[in-house]
Parts: sequence; structure tokens; C-alpha cells
Amino acid sequence: MTPINDQNPIIPIDHPRYESLKYRHKIIEGMKNLIVAEAGLIAHGRGECFDYMLGETTNETAKEAIIAAVALLLTASNAVISVNGNTAALCPNELVELSEIINAPLEINLFYRKKGRIEAIKNVLQGAGAKKILGLDERIMVEIEELSSNRRNVDPNGIKIADVVFVPLEDGDRTEALKKIGKIVVAVDLNPISRTSLWADITIVDNFIRVMPEMIKIAKKLKDADEKELINIIKRFDNKKNIQASLNTIIKYTKKQKKKLL
Ligand code: ATP
Repeated sequence: MTPINDQNPIIPIDHPRYESLKYRHKIIEGMKNLIVAEAGLIAHGRGECFDYMLGETTNETAKEAIIAAVALLLTASNAVISVNGNTAALCPNELVELSEIINAPLEINLFYRKKGRIEAIKNVLQGAGAKKILGLDERIMVEIEELSSNRRNVDPNGIKIADVVFVPLEDGDRTEALKKIGKIVVAVDLNPISRTSLWADITIVDNFIRVMPEMIKIAKKLKDADEKELINIIKRFDNKKNIQASLNTIIKYTKKQKKKLL
């Protein structure tokens, strides 16, 4: 039995909730290293709750959204991947790999701009092999007027000029603001009825830690596909129906658990 030693406590690999605890501790470690904001812990917990209700697996509904999302990112003229503390703490290697495959830069964009956080996130991304990171130079940042939070400051070479923005684990205000300035938004959110989920053009209702490897797999497959094929995939996708299907999954899963109690 090889335990993970994320300092304290030691999680035995045969613990029934090993995976969930492993990522929980990544978030805690991320907070200690300034990568994750305190509020990021709460956001993670909100996500865990929905993941439980979805059965903690990537279902066919999520897979459909992932394929459409990758097709959209590959057909974009200027796609960009927005990175926050939680995403950097959970999957830095995958963020860098996806960014390279789909040729979309990583832009650090934070709600809580505590001193040292940008630097900490930059370091973790560089440690994962990122060569180019946007959102670092305060002097050149421009504002999205529709947004009042810190996240209104965006990179003029990234989100500002992007047509498609990939925003995993987003807050609703910002998704709404991005939509208002004409961006096409791809989101990952375990909560199918968050404002982000409802505002995004493509919402992947699944756990970011499972979504990233799946996106990389699909991106490798679709990278050399015909543009026509990619456009057909996007046209066939209906975000509202997909969100409804995710809600049905929660209902079915909950009913199944209820039956077990009879
Ligand atoms: P809204 O979009 O309704 O405004 P919010 O801004 O309050 O919601 P946050 O508290 O900022 O949302 O949390 C971000 C969202 O990220 C939550 O809806 C949560 O379910 C989701 N989330 C957290 N961790 C993960 C994860 N690992 N994978 C996917 N989604 C996650």
C-alpha cells in the first residue's frame, strides 16, 4: 500500500474516497503555496457536491460536450485558455499540453489578486513546461468595462483579442461579461445550473480533473480533421439539451441511490 503523503493526513491508496481526497489535498497544498485562494477551497467543495450527484464519472453527455468544445477551440481564430488558481493546482501539466495541441495560449486571470499569487501560478505552469504565459504584465493589461471585479483586467494579446475563451471553473459574473463583449465561451462546471453553465456556449458538466485528459485525447484525434467535419460537430451540439441531459443524470443517479434504501 503506497500512501500519498501530502503532508498531513496520509491518505491510504485503498481508501474508498482516495481520488477525491487526493485532489482535495492538492487544493489545500495549492492554498498553502498561494496558488489557490481561500475561496477556491469553497468552490472546490461546491464542485465535489455536484460530482457526487453525477456519480463521479464522465458520462456520455459530458463526452459530447467535450468533443464539441474541442472542435470549437480548433476552429477558433484566436482561442485562449483562462487559468485560475484551482485549475493550476489541479492540472498544470494538462493545461500546458492542451494549450500546445490546440495552439491556444494560457492566460492567468484571477479574482483574488493577493500578492505573490500570479508569481506562484506562473511558477507552477512553467514547472509543467509552459513557455508562454499571458496575463503577467500589469502595465499592458486592458479592462473589460462590463466587469467590476479584478478579473476585468485582461491581456491585450490574449482574452482581449480572442474569439473563443476556454474558462474552466469560472464565476458567473465573468462569463456573463465575456458573453456581453461578444466572446464565445467554453466552460467546465460541475454545477449544471450555475450562471456560468447557463451563460456559456458550450458547458462541460464534469470534473475538470477528468475533463482535461479527455480533452487532450480528443484534441489529438481531431487536430488534423477537416474544418467541415469540425463545423458539423459544433452545429450538431445543443448546449441547452446537453445541460438538461446532465440534470437528468443527477435525477436518475439520485433515484438509483434512493432505491437502494428501500
Ligand atoms: P455562478 O456561476 O452561479 O455565479 P459562482 O460564481 O458562485 O457560480 P464559484 O463559487 O466561483 O461559482 O465556483 C465555481 C464553480 O466551479 C462552481 O459552480 C463549482 O461547482 C465548480 N467547480 C469547482 N470545482 C470544480 C471541478 N474540479 N470541476 C468542475 N467544476 C468545478
